[in-house]
Amino acid sequence: MKPILFNFTDAELVDFIAHMGQPKFRARQIRDWLDRGAPDFDSMKNLPAELRHDLDACAQTLPVRVLKKLESSDGQTTKFLLELGDGEQIESVLMRTSYGNSVCVSSQAGCAMGCKFCASTLLGLKRNLTVNEIYSQILCAQWELRNNRMSQRPIRPNGDANNGDVSHIVVMGTGEPLQNTQNVIGFIERANSDMGIGWRKITVSTCGIVPGIKDLTQWGRPINLAVSLHAPTDKLRSKIMPINNKYKIADVLDAAFEFSELHNRQLMIEYILLAVRGANGEPELLNCTSEYAEKLSDLLRGKNCMVNLIPWNTVDEREFVSPSGNAVHRFQDILIKNGIHTRIRRERGNDIGSACGQLRLNNANGIK
Ligand code: SF4
Repeated sequence: MKPILFNFTDAELVDFIAHMGQPKFRARQIRDWLDRGAPDFDSMKNLPAELRHDLDACAQTLPVRVLKKLESSDGQTTKFLLELGDGEQIESVLMRTSYGNSVCVSSQAGCAMGCKFCASTLLGLKRNLTVNEIYSQILCAQWELRNNRMSQRPIRPNGDANNGDVSHIVVMGTGEPLQNTQNVIGFIERANSDMGIGWRKITVSTCGIVPGIKDLTQWGRPINLAVSLHAPTDKLRSKIMPINNKYKIADVLDAAFEFSELHNRQLMIEYILLAVRGANGEPELLNCTSEYAEKLSDLLRGKNCMVNLIPWNTVDEREFVSPSGNAVHRFQDILIKNGIHTRIRRERGNDIGSACGQLRLNNANGIK
């Protein structure tokens, strides 16, 4: 395994360069490129060609290496398949929106949580990501935005271009962030201090790890919290999200609302709308019947929250199907009638497998 220069301290980098017979200022130049997310040594244009070649033979720039990049057909979403230093693979997604450039990062290679609708857990958990491995996903996206002309096209309704930098982060990719809480916190602290991304532009999404939510409360930064709920009763939720056998809905919501009330933030509730194929081949609603809409309203009435309704995105290995558009709107109408803030989330990058629940481990090894 080649040493990863991004992980070196400044002193270690100077030492490494000195062993190659290079002066100290070269280490500063390299650090500057690394902080900008240079994916390879060839990009480091102010280094002599021979040094770039020698570095390439003996070292790696970032803790993640881009194996593959996929662009959605509308050009607004880029999915990165990334390789870690030990060969594990993760995915991250850059979304260019009218409000800025948002990156969805992975916090683990794989996931142990076993949610029945999710592709990320199909091979189980491989390992937690380090702070640098999570942070490098942002650097890859930043590099893409600054160096790929396709990324700089105007996308705002008035034709303005985004300013080209990452402005929002969602920790919603592969893995359960609150199974790797300390590294996720370290990553967020760094994104805030080194990249200037405001707390309120950062969202952590959890399947409901109560001790982890309490850790975030204690940490005290006013980030956004999203809870993947997906069912309003413990009986149904335990069937599609095994974590519910450990942390019940009432405890998850108590901890989550305590966090959001402390920071006066709206709690995000993620709710994937699932159907199964019935005996006659027609979709049968699973968690999005009128009855469940009423039960969900009972849980959330009067609370400061927003329910994001996410019609199911296809994952080949899973048995679910999408509910009809009518069923989705019927479910939403009941929530609205009951005074619950809700919106149907427009899925981005569905055609490149980067929509919610579609990110997966080991994409290159033939799962997809
Ligand atoms: S939805 Fe999140 S927590 Fe559940 S298996 Fe997928 S990545 Fe893990």
